[in-house]
Amino acid sequence: MNRSDVIKKYRKRLIKSYIFIAFAIMLLEIIVYFLMKSQALKSLFFDNYFLAYLILPTSVNALSIVVMILIERSDRFKERQKNASTVYGLYFMALNVSCVHSYFWAVSCCLTLPMLVSCIYGDRRLMRSSVITAFFSLFVSAIVSNFEHGDVSFVALNSSVTFIMIVVAYMLGSVMIDYSEENIKEIENRIVKEHVFKERLKRDQMTGLLNQNTFYEDLEKEVEYAEQNDVVFALAIIDIDNFKHVNDTYGHEYGDIVLKKLSRIMTGCCDVDASIYRYGGEEFAIIFKNKTKMQAKATMDQVLRKFREAKYRFTNEMITLSCGICDYNGGSAKYMFRKSDAALYEAKQTGKNRIVVDRES
Ligand code: GH3
Ligand code: MG
Ligand code: MG
Repeated sequence: MNRSDVIKKYRKRLIKSYIFIAFAIMLLEIIVYFLMKSQALKSLFFDNYFLAYLILPTSVNALSIVVMILIERSDRFKERQKNASTVYGLYFMALNVSCVHSYFWAVSCCLTLPMLVSCIYGDRRLMRSSVITAFFSLFVSAIVSNFEHGDVSFVALNSSVTFIMIVVAYMLGSVMIDYSEENIKEIENRIVKEHVFKERLKRDQMTGLLNQNTFYEDLEKEVEYAEQNDVVFALAIIDIDNFKHVNDTYGHEYGDIVLKKLSRIMTGCCDVDASIYRYGGEEFAIIFKNKTKMQAKATMDQVLRKFREAKYRFTNEMITLSCGICDYNGGSAKYMFRKSDAALYEAKQTGKNRIVVDRES
C-alpha cells in the first residue's frame, strides 16, 4: 500500500466519522429538546426549536457530507482536491454548529478541528488556507452570535478565545506535519538502506558479480519462466584454465587481479539481458536471457578472445578459460547445469582454452 492509498483509506474513514458526528449532533438536539420540555425551560427559540436547532442544522450537515461523498466518488477531482473537500466540508459543519449554538461560547472552538484534519494529509498549503478559513468562519460566527445575543463584549471575549485556539491549533498542526514528514523521510531512508543491503547480499564482494546463491535462485526462476512462456535462454559455465598455477607462481593477490579482469571483460561483452555470476573460486556462470546457445557462444567467443589477449603487469603468460554452453530445452535447472558442466568438462578434456556447445538439439 503506497502513501496515496493510505490517504485514500483514511479520507473515507474521515467521511464515515463525519456521518457519525452529524447523527450525534442531531441526537443531542433531540435529547436537549425533551430535557427542555420536561423541565419547562422554554427558550426564546423554543417555538422554532425543530426548525432552528434540528431541521436546518441537520440539513446543512447532511448536505456537506453528501457533497464530500460525491467529490470522493467522482473521477473529475484530483486527490488534493478530495483531501481539501474533507477539510472545507468539516468547516461548513463546524461553522453551522458554532452559528446555531453561539449561546455556548466554547462551541466556536470546533473551528479548530478542520485544521487537525489537514495535518493527516501532511499538506502545508492546505493547512495554511485552512487557518485563513478558520478566521473567516470565526468572523461569520461572531456576526451571527452578535445578531443573536446583541452583546458585543460577550461576542468579543468569545471570539478572542477562539482566535487564540485557532493560532494554537495552527502551531500544533505545523509541528505534527514536521514530525510526520521527518518520520516519512526516515522510513524512506530505511527502505533504501534495506534495498542496498539486500543487493549487497546478492553479490560477490571482490568482483561485484552476482554470487552463488543468487545464481541457483535465478537459474530456477529462469527455467520456470521459460517453461511457462515457451522462451529460449542459454547458460554458460566458465572456468579459468590452470588457475592454481597462476596462484602458485605469482601469488594469490595476482590471482585476484585475473579474476577481476575476467569479470570486467564479461561485463563489457554482455548486454543487459545477461546476468553474470561468480559461483565458485574461479568459476563463473552467465544466464543469457532470450538467447540461443549459438548466440551465447558468439558473446563467449568475444570474452575468450579478450581474456586471452589481456595484458598483466606481473606476467607475459597467456591466461585462458574454458567454457561449456547449453540452452533451455526442457528439464530442470539441475539438468541444465549438468549439461553446461558436461560441455565445460569436454572443453577441459580436449585441451582447454575453448568453448564447447552442448550437442542436444
Ligand atoms: P583447471 O584448468 O582444470 O581448471 O585447473 P585449475 O588450476 O584452474 O583448477 P583448480 O580447481 O585445481 O584450482 C582452482 C584454484 O582457484 C584453486 C584455488 O586456490 C583458486 N582460488 C579459488 N578462489 C580464489 C580466489 O578468490 N582468489 C584466488 N587468487 N584464487 C582462488
Ligand atoms: Mg575450477
Ligand atoms: Mg580452473
